[in-house]
Amino acid sequence: MDRVLSGMRPTGKLHLGHLHGVLQNWKELQDKYECFYFVADWHALTTDYKISHEIKNNTIEMVADWLAVGLNPEKSTLFIQSKVKEHAELHLLLSMITPLGWLERNPTYKEMKNEIKNKDINNYGFLGYPVLQTADIIIYHAKYVPVGMDQIPHLELSREIARRFNFIYKTNFFIEPEPILTDFAKIPGIDGRKMSKSYNNAIFISDKGKDLEKKVLNLVTDTHRVRRTDPGDPERCLAYNFHKIYCTENELEMINKECPKAGIGCFDCKKILLKRISEKLAPIQEKREKYISNKNLILDILEEGSNKAKKIAKETVDKVNEIIGLKY
Ligand code: SF4
Repeated sequence: MDRVLSGMRPTGKLHLGHLHGVLQNWKELQDKYECFYFVADWHALTTDYKISHEIKNNTIEMVADWLAVGLNPEKSTLFIQSKVKEHAELHLLLSMITPLGWLERNPTYKEMKNEIKNKDINNYGFLGYPVLQTADIIIYHAKYVPVGMDQIPHLELSREIARRFNFIYKTNFFIEPEPILTDFAKIPGIDGRKMSKSYNNAIFISDKGKDLEKKVLNLVTDTHRVRRTDPGDPERCLAYNFHKIYCTENELEMINKECPKAGIGCFDCKKILLKRISEKLAPIQEKREKYISNKNLILDILEEGSNKAKKIAKETVDKVNEIIGLKY
């Protein structure tokens, strides 16, 4: 079976953007490939080194969501990056052959430096994170990496670094990882921007009861529809992005028929949505609670996965040292 690798920074509880954008895809991939999914805790340090004490708890909260959604440790290797020290060793070795210009022209680096104003990211680790990312992937000889269109340039950089290693050391040891493009419905946050914990606009997988109700009923609707009697247009409605994912065909048909003639009010329309989201999340939340009440089980799963990953990573790094002539 071909190998797939993907990781996630430990940001704590995950939201519906993660559920539909990443986790459902990861879950499907684990039936077709040998999947390695990791907690990118060193990557978290590249920007959040001042709040490193939050990483452990965020890891537990995040992996509880992974497991609840259906990532299965029997099928996939779930592990923590910092528990496999070989990632750091390969990162160092690759950093020696990676031209500085490749990192400085990385669009995400430039974009984040412009956007992130509330923390100092003028650090060496942040500039070099694509090299660490490359080490994360090629250390397992992963053939595929699931990515969205916006991440294609990152993967291209990893391919270039792998190619450069092979060229300099006259080997074909590393394979160049290929993207598996993920096609998913983009879910906006409750304010219309990209759903993100840092924008405070997320609906979390674990949200329920009054919290969930408040968020769903406050979703922005068609802003042209000021009064209940005004006709609306679902395509101009932020909430309708969620309806399209959660509601049945019949419900969507009814909304498309009634909304434009003001036959249904936004409150009632969002009540239908609330019911469907609650139904979809309930079984996931039930599983999540079981895991979160037994944090040691989560840590054991990650320990076991990390040990499994380490065996492969060590073989790779031993071989790399041999190739570059550092085997004593
Ligand atoms: S009735 Fe439904 S689809 Fe139409 S604007 Fe209101 S919430 Fe949106």
